[in-house]
Amino acid sequence: MKTLYDAIRTVPNYPKDGIMFRDITTLLSDARAFMTSVDALVQHHVSDEFDLVAGIEARGFIVGGALAHRLACGFIPVRKKGKLPAATFAQDYDLEYGTDTLEIHSDALTPGQKVLLVDDLIATGGTAEAAIKLIERAGGEVIACSFVIDLPDLGGRAKLEAMGKPVLTLVSYEGD
Ligand code: AMP
Repeated sequence: MKTLYDAIRTVPNYPKDGIMFRDITTLLSDARAFMTSVDALVQHHVSDEFDLVAGIEARGFIVGGALAHRLACGFIPVRKKGKLPAATFAQDYDLEYGTDTLEIHSDALTPGQKVLLVDDLIATGGTAEAAIKLIERAGGEVIACSFVIDLPDLGGRAKLEAMGKPVLTLVSYEGD
């Protein structure tokens, strides 16, 4: 049987030497693999009571949008700096070289709303941690975090769990 691993393409040395890029575009274009992924996330979260799914730009919008629809939740985008039109909160986070900034609309949430954070992949966890800080600054409560892919050696999952956030991932690549 074809697995989710078979549907994910690995592109060596992208975007730079030494990185094994785990490309989900091949999973998204495979109807069965896309459905299987979303179904697995839905099954895990169906009895959780979220108000909102937050997706991280850009691949987190695709998985998060599908999940929000299936869980009958609203969706909020966590975007790269300068993309959102209204007033925002901003959060810097570290990249391997330098920093980047994520933003959400400052009125994206009503205080106390329960949020499921979604992205395609967790590596060091810096991106997800920045998204959690933004959601919590806006008054939301991040109840859980879900990703299609885990790179456990980079420690992101452990970092979010140390923050008290339950983490679900569907596939895991050790040694990256
Ligand atoms: P991090 O902040 O280190 O957890 O990185 C997670 C973000 O970077 C996610 O939005 C991923 O889409 C992207 N990313 C990091 N490493 C990879 C990789 N090896 N393959 C694909 N995407 C990656």
